[in-house]
Amino acid sequence: MGFIEEVRTFLGDYVITRKEDLIPYMNDASYFTGEMPDAVLLPGSAEDVQRIMRLAYKYEVPVVVKGGGSSLTGSSILKGHGVVISMLRMNRIIDVNLNDKCVIVEPGVRLDDLERFLDGYGHFYPPDPASSRSATVGGSISTNAGGLRGVAYGVTKDWVLGLDVVLADGTLVKFGNRTLKRSAGYDMTALMIGSEGTLGVITKAYLKIWPKPERIARILAFFRTIDDAGKAISEIKEHTIPEMAEFMDKISLDSVPEAITYPDGTNYALIVDASGPVETLQRRKDQIESILKRYAIETWSTTDEKEMNRIYLARKGLYASILRLRKNENEYIVIGDIVVPVSELPSTLKEIEKARDGDGVRSALFGHIGDGNIHANIFADLSDEEAMARVNRFMMDMAMIAVKHGGSVSAEHGIGIEKRKLLIEEMRYNDNMRTLDLMKSIKHLFDPKNILNRGNIFEQDAGSDS
Ligand SMILES: Cc1cc2nc3c(=O)[nH]c(=O)nc-3n(C[C@H](O)[C@H](O)[C@H](O)COP(=O)(O)OP(=O)(O)OC[C@H]3O[C@@H](n4cnc5c(N)ncnc54)[C@H](O)[C@@H]3O)c2cc1C
Repeated sequence: MGFIEEVRTFLGDYVITRKEDLIPYMNDASYFTGEMPDAVLLPGSAEDVQRIMRLAYKYEVPVVVKGGGSSLTGSSILKGHGVVISMLRMNRIIDVNLNDKCVIVEPGVRLDDLERFLDGYGHFYPPDPASSRSATVGGSISTNAGGLRGVAYGVTKDWVLGLDVVLADGTLVKFGNRTLKRSAGYDMTALMIGSEGTLGVITKAYLKIWPKPERIARILAFFRTIDDAGKAISEIKEHTIPEMAEFMDKISLDSVPEAITYPDGTNYALIVDASGPVETLQRRKDQIESILKRYAIETWSTTDEKEMNRIYLARKGLYASILRLRKNENEYIVIGDIVVPVSELPSTLKEIEKARDGDGVRSALFGHIGDGNIHANIFADLSDEEAMARVNRFMMDMAMIAVKHGGSVSAEHGIGIEKRKLLIEEMRYNDNMRTLDLMKSIKHLFDPKNILNRGNIFEQDAGSDS
C-alpha cells in the first residue's frame, strides 16, 4: 500500500482524488496557481492529523495545510507535488469560559462564525481580517492576521494563549495553555504564530476573548492631501486610541459610490471609530473629530447602526469592489502590505505615491492606517511581462520605503511565496541575515524532511536564500 491507500483506510471518503474535485484546491486568494495535489485529505480530529503526518513523514510526502484559502501571498497552495490537508471539517467550538476570558476552538472554525457565537455572550475575539467570512482560526493564526480592529486591540499574536500542534512526524505537542499569563521557558505558542504552516499543523487553539464595547460612534473625514490624512491619524494616535482607523484613497472611494459619497476636492478619506460607555462616548467622539476637523475638508459622524454598518461593509469589501475598476479581465490585483511606525506615516505615504507614479503603475491605496499598515492594490495584467516588471518594481520600492522608515515588508499577509525576496531584502537592509539563518534552523529542527508547506517563506530548499 502507498501513502494515499494507507490514509484511505482511516479517512475513507474524506480522501479526494478525482481531478475535477482537486481543481478548487489549487488556488488561494492570491494571483498564483499552485500544482494539482495528488489528493486532498479532510481530517476530522487531531488523531486523524497525527496519523496523516506519521505516514507523510514515513513516505516523505509534502503537505500543505489549508484553512479558508484566503491567503493573498500564495501561502496555502502547493508548490510542487504532494497533498493538501484541508482543516475545514475540524470546525467545532469546544468551550467558552467568561471567567477565564477564553474560548477553545478547532482550527477550521471561520472567524465570522466565532464572532456570531461569542456575540451571544456579549464578547468578541478581536482579530478581524476583512476576509473573516472565509478565513479560519488556524489560517489566521498561521499568518498572524490583523484587521480593522488592530489599532485598538493588536493582532492575532496578542490573542492566542495556547495551541495544540501536530509536528511533521505526527507527534502531538501542547504549546501554552488557557491561562492569561505564563512564563515557563520559550514561548512556543508565539513561534507558531505567523509560521504559515511550515512548522506544524494546529489542531486546537486557546484564544483570549474580550467584552464587546458598549457603544460606537463612526466618523468619516475627507482630505485634500495625503499629508493631511497622515498627520491627522498621527495626532489622533498621540492623544488617544480609536476603536478603528481605516484609510482609503480616491480610487478606493470610487469603487464604493453607493456606500460613501464625498465632497469636492476629496482625494483621501479616513474612517475612525470612537468607543465607550454611553456616558463618555460623546466626549471621546468629539476629541477625535476635533483633531480630524483641523486637517479635513469635511467630517461626518453617526451612531446609527445601519449607517455605521454600511460604511463598515464598504471598507471590508474593498478588495472585491476594487476589482470592478479593472480595465479588462486579464487584470488581477497584486497586493502590497507594508507597515511603518505610525509617526512615520505622513512621509511614508507621500513616498509611496511618488514611487507608484514613478514606476507607472495603477494602484489603489487603503489600509489599517491606525496601526501603520498600508495596502497598495495594484492592477496587474499577468500576461504582460513589461507591465508585471513595473508592478514588481513598485512592490520592491514600496517594501524598501517601509523598511527605511523602520517598518516591514509584510504587515499581516505573511510571506508565502510572493514576498520571499522582499523578506531577504528586509533582513539584508537591517544587516540581520543571522535572523534569517535562525529561522531556517528552526524550520529544519521542526521539519527535518522539509515536508510542511515546502517553498513557503523560504525557497524550496530552506537553505538557499541567503
Ligand atoms: C478579501 C480579503 C481580505 C483580506 N483582509 C485581510 C485583513 O484585513 N487582514 C489580514 O491580516 N489578512 C487579510 N487577508 C488575508 C487572509 O485572509 C488572512 O491571511 C487569513 O488569516 C488567512 O486565513 P485562511 O483560513 O484563509 O488561511 P489559508 O489561506 O487557508 O492559509 C494561510 C496559511 O496558514 C496555514 N494554515 C492554515 N491552517 C493551518 C493550520 N490549522 N495549521 C497550520 N497552518 C495552517 C496555511 O498553510 C497557509 O500557510 C485578506 C484576504 C482576502 C481574500
